[in-house]
Amino acid sequence: MTEAYWFKEAVEAAGPLSVQRLAGRITADVCIVGGGYLGLWTAIRLKEAEPALSVVVVEKALCGSGASGRNGGFVTSYWAKYLSLLKLATPEGAGWIAGRSADAVRELGDFCREQGIDCDYRHDGWLWTASSRHQIGAWEGLVAELAQHDVRPFEPLDPAEVARRGGTDRNLAGVFEAEAATLQPAKLALGLRRVARERGVALYEESPMQRLDRGRCPVVHTAGGSVEAGKVVLAMNAWGSRLRELRRRVVVVASDMIATAPAPQRLAEIGFASGVAICDSRMFLNYWRNTPGGRVVFGRSLGHFAFAGRVGDNYEGPSPRAAEVETAWRGLYPMLREVPVAASWTGPIDRSVDGLPFFGHLGGHPGIVYGLGFSGQGVGPTVLGGRILASLVREAADDWSHCGLVRETVETFPPEPFRYVGAIGVREALRRKERLEDAGRKPDAATVFVAGLAPTGYVPSKRG
Ligand SMILES: Cc1cc2nc3c(=O)[nH]c(=O)nc-3n(C[C@H](O)[C@H](O)[C@H](O)COP(=O)(O)OP(=O)(O)OC[C@H]3O[C@@H](n4cnc5c(N)ncnc54)[C@H](O)[C@@H]3O)c2cc1C
Repeated sequence: MTEAYWFKEAVEAAGPLSVQRLAGRITADVCIVGGGYLGLWTAIRLKEAEPALSVVVVEKALCGSGASGRNGGFVTSYWAKYLSLLKLATPEGAGWIAGRSADAVRELGDFCREQGIDCDYRHDGWLWTASSRHQIGAWEGLVAELAQHDVRPFEPLDPAEVARRGGTDRNLAGVFEAEAATLQPAKLALGLRRVARERGVALYEESPMQRLDRGRCPVVHTAGGSVEAGKVVLAMNAWGSRLRELRRRVVVVASDMIATAPAPQRLAEIGFASGVAICDSRMFLNYWRNTPGGRVVFGRSLGHFAFAGRVGDNYEGPSPRAAEVETAWRGLYPMLREVPVAASWTGPIDRSVDGLPFFGHLGGHPGIVYGLGFSGQGVGPTVLGGRILASLVREAADDWSHCGLVRETVETFPPEPFRYVGAIGVREALRRKERLEDAGRKPDAATVFVAGLAPTGYVPSKRG
């Protein structure tokens, strides 16, 4: 098995992919740069709204070969990020975004069924747990705030039930959100690729954009050709952080994953056979699920930081932190000691200061729109992102183009080299803090202070 575990499995299921490179000068109504979920959903929504639009996607490698083809496959809503949403929008606006993100979980499953995308979608919910005593109650401030608005997406569970649903008593406490799913991420990406093509979207792969002309009619240049487009959409994930306007709005950091050998019998014995998504409440987030074939797929955040957003090859291939990820997994499932790890991989996360994506016009250019900052939660939210970008492209004045995630002003990280040095310093403080908490010890005030400078994580802290 290679490092590109999900992608290889998806290509085997889909059959050989026919690839067309961009050659020569062409024109299009819309040129989308980046063929991950965000670019493909945007293309599909544009063709749904206006079938006559000519839409092309220019992709550096193969569609889905970025983060979309190698994530954890959690499809989750924004209810866990409601406290952060409240800083961007009114309670009604925040509730609207979170509500649409919860709808997106079901919508994604329905879309896959209707379009014949077999991506092992299982609508079995999300278990949000505490894997150390210190984490217990990490959700309480959020749950209390939501209750004030009469919204109750999280079901409280007693500790025995949390242990039962996750198949391990190392989950000490937790809550459950029913509106969540897991899927095979690369099968979804290749399914969207097929649907986009069927709807008339032209896909140019193995054609990295080398330059973007920002004239009145923007032009995307690759080594073999160029696309002059009425509108350009930048859906480049971490790679987009090299653009000067976006550079300080995200830090690029690795998330690292392992997949075990199949052990369906053992997972059934410990009661971990459903398609539930699980994560704990660390900043060094542990997140895991199983596959229908009985593998455990386990990930951990906060790996390699990219200096000045230079992604390079640091996020390709097997994970250099696989041993650390395996240790975390074995700590939670000691009873699976005989099950070997079969693959590992890594990928880039475009982490924004508030953990939420942002959409807008590049440097105010009316013809160039972008979406960035999914912060490690993009499988469900890119369904929304595609609708937002399609509305911005069509200059539609609707709920999508007016929602709080469309914002030209975004909190920024410090410039380099302070950002890089600061990120490493904060990560090491977090590492020390969580190690001490795991050992039942109280971290010192300096460690707590530095760790507290971390941007909002996948799971909100008590302060939101
Ligand atoms: C290890 C890992 C685990 C994750 N787990 C989860 C999870 O369980 N649940 C969840 O919701 N989210 C998860 N995420 C995040 C999620 O995968 C992303 O938020 C989502 O895939 C973003 O989609 P995208 O289209 O923006 O990015 P991508 O899929 O990365 O697409 C961007 C595309 O742009 C292309 N590109 C870049 N530069 C150029 C260029 N110059 N020219 C042309 N094309 C270019 C890239 O090749 C890439 O295909 C995870 C991410 C990682 C890395």
